[in-house]
Amino acid sequence: MHQQLRGIGVSPGVAFARTVLMRPDFPEVPDRTVRPEEVEGEVQRLRDAVATVVGHLEELGRKVLERAGAEESRIFDAQILMAQDEDFLQSAVVLIRNNLLSAETAYEFKALELRALWSASQSAHLRDRLADLHAIQLRMLNVLLGRPGQEIWSLPDDEQMIVVAHELSPGLTVQLDREHVVGLISEEGTRTSHAAILAHSLGIPAVMGVTGALARIPEGTLVLIDGQAGVITVDPTPVELEEAKVQISRRHRLEFQLESVVALPAETPDGVRVSMMGNVDLPDEIEAAMRSGAEGVGLLRTEFLLTGRASLPTEAEQLSYFKRVSLAFPNSPVIIRSYDIGGDKFPAAFRMPQEANPFLGWRSIRVCLDQPEVFRTQLRAILRAAADRNVQLMLPLVTRVDEVLDTRALVEDERQSLLRDGFRAATDLRVGVMIETPAAVLIADKLAEVSDFFSVGSNDLTQYTLALDRGNARLAERFTSHHPAVVRQLAQVVAAAATRGLPASVCGEMVSEPLSAVLLMGLGFRIFSIAPPSIPLVKWVIRSVPLSAARAAALAALDARGPADVDAALRDAVAPHVDLRLIDPHAALQARGRVVSLPTPPRSS
Ligand code: PEP
Ligand code: MG
Repeated sequence: MHQQLRGIGVSPGVAFARTVLMRPDFPEVPDRTVRPEEVEGEVQRLRDAVATVVGHLEELGRKVLERAGAEESRIFDAQILMAQDEDFLQSAVVLIRNNLLSAETAYEFKALELRALWSASQSAHLRDRLADLHAIQLRMLNVLLGRPGQEIWSLPDDEQMIVVAHELSPGLTVQLDREHVVGLISEEGTRTSHAAILAHSLGIPAVMGVTGALARIPEGTLVLIDGQAGVITVDPTPVELEEAKVQISRRHRLEFQLESVVALPAETPDGVRVSMMGNVDLPDEIEAAMRSGAEGVGLLRTEFLLTGRASLPTEAEQLSYFKRVSLAFPNSPVIIRSYDIGGDKFPAAFRMPQEANPFLGWRSIRVCLDQPEVFRTQLRAILRAAADRNVQLMLPLVTRVDEVLDTRALVEDERQSLLRDGFRAATDLRVGVMIETPAAVLIADKLAEVSDFFSVGSNDLTQYTLALDRGNARLAERFTSHHPAVVRQLAQVVAAAATRGLPASVCGEMVSEPLSAVLLMGLGFRIFSIAPPSIPLVKWVIRSVPLSAARAAALAALDARGPADVDAALRDAVAPHVDLRLIDPHAALQARGRVVSLPTPPRSS
């Protein structure tokens, strides 16, 4: 049935395909008992089902290995371990033997018990584990009941789909097959939730915060998704489909134009140079970052190394990943961020406590400093990678000077230990600080004394400044880095860095928004680190808007009363130089159905 739904456009692009609903669509399991003489047969059926499921998971791991790489194929390790968990299986076997239950009834009973236990905790840290549990439970029940399973990874190669889910955790998103998944829709999530950042980095159009999506969008229906405007059209009319095709080809034409700027410097028409680095969250973005002209990696997120794994990555594994990235950018910096777990990232390999407010809890640098053995392994890998490449270390969620000093002491300790062990290690590892909290902004002058560079994490800085959960769809309208309270802090960071001549960059999602990039330029930032798909567009805008216009907008923003004034100042500054319909989600929405003519490309140099 034709209908339009609205949500938050979190990753731009237009796509249409049939839907796959990722709801915990568990089959009805009949309450079946068996005769005593059938009991051992049921136990065997349960064991056989485990073997089949493990076989499927291993097969998937192999497919992922071929398509995506070794690191990503490890995401199934944790599921395999969970499927083979002997304590859990034994408890189901006891039910079969003592209560004469069928294998599926006993398994379902035990799985429900575990899910209830985990869900009742209300703890975000079990979400990724719950997703694994759901996946295994569904596989086991499908096998035991002889139901054909719906397997995203094993769909025919030419089939494409739009995935609809309640909530996409980072752990789940990372498992999606980018060749087949052309769009993502979820009921929860916002532009700065980590799953949205991943979707954006992967270049998959996505709309989040769509209330009731699972109930309102039928399985297998054709759906049109506009990841910029945040609009979903269920069962589109032929006219709407044609219009979408026009939009897609317009986007292709824009991309074609953008390709012409990939090899050109990000320089304003009045000659000011901005350095454009890439954010890399997953290994297959290394290629994407290179293709889009990134001048190094300004944020290498390392949580991916832990995703879905049952054990922590070794020093050698981390070193090989860091080397791979630095070899891809032999003449540019690669900035590795130490583990930023907690908040909404809870890798299975880490024993994280349950907390009432994980974003205000045991997160990021706090975890690393409290678990020095884990931190030291990562630091050793970074020190070794930095021995002959421009590899640097960046610390997330810093709120105190001693966090930087303590890290530096560990770095020095591990450097000595590496040398004693006969390894080469960087002599002077550069250590930078992410400015992600008002505390860090307020003591930025002191942090500057002990840091080599700053990088603003605007996602967290906005969340902590405005006291707005970055992942809460209900608050998404209010969540904006254009709030004057954020803008003023950004200016303070530039000033604090300048007093000691430190480089200051921005690596949060804000910088991938062309209008925000203009604001940041006007405020004085000259290094941007951006999700690879957005690099060309931001560069194109930088090459079109003179710094004088950006400065005027920034001055107005610093004096603004609210985000609307900041938005207006930016639009006024940019409009004479760039067709706003191409870069502004709201303007794009108004332009739907009209063919937007492209402006002439900025001058080449
Ligand atoms: C940020 O907070 O802006 C940032 C870049 O870190 P993350 O999104 O990984 O928390
Ligand atoms: Mg952050």
